[in-house]
Amino acid sequence: MIPPNPNVMRGVISTLNKGSYLTSIPEEGKGTWNNAKDMQEHYDYIVLGGGSAGCVVANRLAEDPEVKVLVLEAGYADDIMSSKTPAVFLLNVDNAVTDWQFKTTPQVHAGGRIMKQPRGKILGGTSSINAMMYHRGPASDYDEWESLGNPGWSYKDCLPYFKKSEGFNDPDLPPTHPRGPLTNRVRKPLYETFEPEYHGTEGPWQVSSHYLHGASEGFVRASIAEGVKFNKDFNGESTIGVNKIQTFIQRDGVRSSLSRAFLKPKGVVPGGGARGTIRVVLGADIRRVLVQMKGGVKMAYGVEFVDHNNVPRRVMAIREVLLCAGAFGSPHILLASGISPSPQPSIPHIHTLPGVGANLADHLGIGVVFRARNRCHVAHKDFGYGRSLPAYINYKLRGTGVLTSQIGEAVNFLRLEEFAPDFVAREKANGTYKERASGPNSPHIEIIFAPYYMKKHATIMPDDSKNYYTMIALLLNPCSTGTVKIAPKKGSKSVNGSSPEFETVIDPNYFSESFDIRVMAEAVKFMRKLARRMNQDPEVGGREVFPGESAVPDDDDTKLGEFVRNSAETYYHPTTTCRMGPSSDPLAVVDNRLRVHGIDRLRVIDASVMPKLPAAHTCAATVMIAERASDMIKEDWRVPSQSDPIAARL
Ligand SMILES: Cc1cc2nc3c(=O)[nH]c(=O)nc-3n(C[C@H](O)[C@H](O)[C@H](O)COP(=O)(O)OP(=O)(O)OC[C@H]3O[C@@H](n4cnc5c(N)ncnc54)[C@H](O)[C@@H]3O)c2cc1C
Repeated sequence: MIPPNPNVMRGVISTLNKGSYLTSIPEEGKGTWNNAKDMQEHYDYIVLGGGSAGCVVANRLAEDPEVKVLVLEAGYADDIMSSKTPAVFLLNVDNAVTDWQFKTTPQVHAGGRIMKQPRGKILGGTSSINAMMYHRGPASDYDEWESLGNPGWSYKDCLPYFKKSEGFNDPDLPPTHPRGPLTNRVRKPLYETFEPEYHGTEGPWQVSSHYLHGASEGFVRASIAEGVKFNKDFNGESTIGVNKIQTFIQRDGVRSSLSRAFLKPKGVVPGGGARGTIRVVLGADIRRVLVQMKGGVKMAYGVEFVDHNNVPRRVMAIREVLLCAGAFGSPHILLASGISPSPQPSIPHIHTLPGVGANLADHLGIGVVFRARNRCHVAHKDFGYGRSLPAYINYKLRGTGVLTSQIGEAVNFLRLEEFAPDFVAREKANGTYKERASGPNSPHIEIIFAPYYMKKHATIMPDDSKNYYTMIALLLNPCSTGTVKIAPKKGSKSVNGSSPEFETVIDPNYFSESFDIRVMAEAVKFMRKLARRMNQDPEVGGREVFPGESAVPDDDDTKLGEFVRNSAETYYHPTTTCRMGPSSDPLAVVDNRLRVHGIDRLRVIDASVMPKLPAAHTCAATVMIAERASDMIKEDWRVPSQSDPIAARL
């Protein structure tokens, strides 16, 4: 996908698109970081992290004209091509300008590998660098959240909030629609099906269908031929089956990140009209939440951060501190604030919460690469001047074409007993089968089809890259769980009396349960079946090039297991590191209104609070959580009453 000659692309882009840059922005374009001039000492709410959840929360709270919201974000403005243009989103991964570039500890059950863990360090957070797949997951996963001791989080309760944020673009909407020009692209009505009762059309987050490569259609056909049922709408009644995935891409082909959807609309920034104000400070490195004892209660009252100019600052919250720093950032900030499982050296201990940083769950993916008969790669090494210029002009003028592909175009969601019944029977007979899915309609495996050479987060590209496609199997219900901890950063010093800097130590403990490996090995066999089908398709073809059937034969479980162990990578869905649960759950960090157990006026609102990793891509669920939390906060502050413990102390 990386264009062959970045200089050529850069030239084309800056000529056609003054003001936007490919992967980085010059100092003066970085955004509103110079807070010394106009930052206040107090805000009603301080949102820690201007990422996926943070942008939603800031917008919704500032619907109250009386309210002032401060958003502190470590990254910078998102007006860069690598974020805006779907097909080049992987340029953001491992890019110091947009990615935190986290790494895991050596993974002892995964060949000792140190693995990448990309996270967005940019306005919009990970929603500004991700693959834009809009997927909520099965209803029973949310019912399971409720059954784990979280009243109000069943699917029935969550659905209105999924719909609230969504601005679903029915492909038949007229070109005059207020959400911008409908592109002149050729529709693929066969794949752009949906169940309207499950979608919202008035929310700011745009969901639509865009590019579908011919090979991706071949994948859908091959899956159906292998017995996978066609799914009209993965976000509708059932999520099982095969189809094109819906995407959060605007009607004009630009990424609908949560910052673009919730912070950019006219009047939101910097807070005009009949709304409260939102002040966004970029380049803010949050060090800790400030907590004091008041009336025998521990209460969050502010935040300490180091600004873009390396100046330590403190800012106070009149109402609440809202931690939205993501599945790695939120436990990191809590631990650095002394809210942790046990006292840590050099950090004043404030409160003991054993669950902070525990329970880390993530989706691993195993990729198999195939060589197609014909050109099958959306943006490859021969994507030079001759093709990139017309593609770019087409994209800019019409919002159509190959640059609107988000690479993972079509997917299967599968149950094990459907694609590997013998395996299930064998494991059950041995007493080793582990059912982690929430119910019979929750999938075990997802297979993503990418018309693209996808190895090591797409950092490797062969010279003849144009003819490859990759299938990636994601393990949706992993048994293995890990931890997030912090450690003093080497060489870091306190800046003018600020708290010291810590490193985030991420140990997902991948494959600590060998059942996870055996399930993924079965998925590899099924991907090969699909590729054999595709090979019969004159349009596509499909000869395996990695790992190769002779190197890793289907009938050699040991070699298959080794391949999975040594090649699987994160597919980017870390969650549950500050999980929601009742106070009776020793590892719960927040209650069902997302308030931190034992600390007043502090909530966590992001992917870290999920009680269990859903069998889904995690952005839509994160946004739903942020919508719900915003309403809860408004409810808690609207009517002061003696029965409300927060309001009673006002
Ligand atoms: C490459 C990639 C592809 C993905 N593809 C998809 C997909 O297609 N569909 C999908 O549904 N999900 C996808 N995901 C996952 C999804 O994007 C995330 O689950 C979701 O965006 C998480 O939202 P969040 O609000 O929890 O965290 P984030 O969006 O990461 O927000 C956290 C914010 O806090 C900031 N922050 C953290 N620490 C600090 C600090 N100390 N000081 C200041 N600021 C701080 C961060 O910079 C960031 O902006 C993908 C993820 C990646 C990495």
